[in-house]
Amino acid sequence: MSLSFDDADFTVRSAVDGSLFSVNRAKLRGSHVFWDMFSVCDTDEVLELHEPESSLAALFRLLHTPPDPPLLLSPCDSEKVTTTLPVRYDATTAIPLPILRLLWYLTDKYALSDTRVLDSLQAHLLAHAPVDPLTVHGMALTLGDMPNVVSESSQYILPLARYTLEEIQAGIPSVADYHRIHELQAFRVKTLQEILGHKYSALFPHNFGTCPTHSTGAAAAWDRARNVLAGKIESDTDVAGEMHTLAYIFQSCGTCSKAFTAAVEMLAYKCRRVRRTIMMETNEDSDDEF
Ligand SMILES: [Zn+2]
Repeated sequence: MSLSFDDADFTVRSAVDGSLFSVNRAKLRGSHVFWDMFSVCDTDEVLELHEPESSLAALFRLLHTPPDPPLLLSPCDSEKVTTTLPVRYDATTAIPLPILRLLWYLTDKYALSDTRVLDSLQAHLLAHAPVDPLTVHGMALTLGDMPNVVSESSQYILPLARYTLEEIQAGIPSVADYHRIHELQAFRVKTLQEILGHKYSALFPHNFGTCPTHSTGAAAAWDRARNVLAGKIESDTDVAGEMHTLAYIFQSCGTCSKAFTAAVEMLAYKCRRVRRTIMMETNEDSDDEF
């Protein structure tokens, strides 16, 4: 017996390699395919399936013992001070992508409908987004019906020009999907540039907190730096983080240093609010979070 479950009352045999599985009939009804099969012929005979042992083992584990979602990371305070993206799941607790790909394939082929299983698999997929955003995004689009994963994974996609043609072709299913990402990234670049160039992003906005000793020089150094940065902004640029690297220029003066810190924090606040994800049309009854 290749795999035997505690509450087994039924045997399945792989027609590919002959491996045998002791399974529970009621648990298999979590799949519409088996549900239909059992409702037509409720026999005790061994059921033969044209799947190799590895696929059947994965499928029956999914139906008998659905995987827990990956571990959630506790919200990180660092998000308050930088524009870097939040990471929600501990990726080391996620099902590896190649296995996940097989599980999604089986879920689709055998029409699994248990929302606990589907939600958990979505969370596992999303856990890989910070490391492998294009693959996760593409899988979510191809599998369909998971707008949250499509949307949330889009924030981790690097500026598109950094990928090779092969990576784009393997990761993004259609030109429309490509365009949606391109639009988001162009929007981010434009908006981040506007924030950086705006008058409220001056070192001494409305002359507030102006240093009597260095007002002109300090403000000019800040303005030069933001002009240079504005020309280099990409969709994933940490604008406040980049400006923060100028701290050494202002640290010798208490007043300038205070204005500098306030200006960087204001930039971080404004930039953090710029939309990071593509908008997906969702059904009205679907949840925003899962
Ligand atoms: Zn000063």
